[in-house]
Amino acid sequence: MLWPAGEPWPHCEDVHLHVDTGFRQSPTEVRLRRILSSRWSPDGPAPTLTPAEEALKKRNAAWLAERLEAGPPGPAECPVPMLPVAQLFLRDVSLLRPPGQADLLQILWCPYEHDPNYKPATALFWRSAAEVGDVLVTPPEPYEADYPGYVPEPCLLAPEAIIEYPNSLDLSPALQEMLEDWNRWQAGGADVDSSYAAYPRDFYSTHLGNAPGWKVGGWPPWGRTDPYPQYCAVCEAQMIPLLTIASFEWDGDKGWVPQEDQANAVSSHYAGQDPSQPTAVEVGSTDNMQIYVCPTSPEHPHTDLIQ
Ligand SMILES: [Zn+2]
Ligand SMILES: [Zn+2]
Repeated sequence: MLWPAGEPWPHCEDVHLHVDTGFRQSPTEVRLRRILSSRWSPDGPAPTLTPAEEALKKRNAAWLAERLEAGPPGPAECPVPMLPVAQLFLRDVSLLRPPGQADLLQILWCPYEHDPNYKPATALFWRSAAEVGDVLVTPPEPYEADYPGYVPEPCLLAPEAIIEYPNSLDLSPALQEMLEDWNRWQAGGADVDSSYAAYPRDFYSTHLGNAPGWKVGGWPPWGRTDPYPQYCAVCEAQMIPLLTIASFEWDGDKGWVPQEDQANAVSSHYAGQDPSQPTAVEVGSTDNMQIYVCPTSPEHPHTDLIQ
């Protein structure tokens, strides 16, 4: 992450629940397990680690032993160093609408569960990339994460501009009724497979309504609940979606797949090597985390929710 060497790394000051989820691992352990599972193949030899990775594993084992010695597990540290989640440049994502001269958005989170709704606590930073200067080489890392899915796997973004329509639940009752009218689809000349004749609304949801995957702007995904607008805690303006953090870049039943992944989407894969999870992030019950911001002022606090 393009973080200035002279600036304090963000830490989470929240209250942390001292209830072990049973899945806690250090970020290093999470990464080592991923490396091994990415090298696993049913026909090949047992996966091995490189000498550098072995050294990391030893250090992690020593850390684990120390932790056991220290007593009952729990977020022993406070405040918790946050983990980088996303870094977006305006030059790649023109939808960002940054404040002032900023051209870079950085999002971090604390990998422990927080109230309400058991989710990582997020922090947003806008900055000007040209003003960063010396970059912090080794940011501090949290002691452990509540779930492996809270330790994002670094990967390069390939942003793709798409046109999507609102989730059908965001449409007026009259429009929702129209979606269910097969005759209307046909009269409109839409090239819709006749297998959707009984459930034309499914065609809308699969191919037109909000796209799955990580996205900036666009329409929020709903599913856990009916849509409910988010209002700014300071000025009460209706907040707008900034970023959706998705557990899957695409889902098998949806028509949307990023261009570079379309071949992967139809090929088979082994458990732990899912090409629709390049970030390895999992939030909620493999749901989405939506980050909302106030359209009036970037100074007003953002909010987030799981859907
Ligand atoms: Zn926290
Ligand atoms: Zn506001």
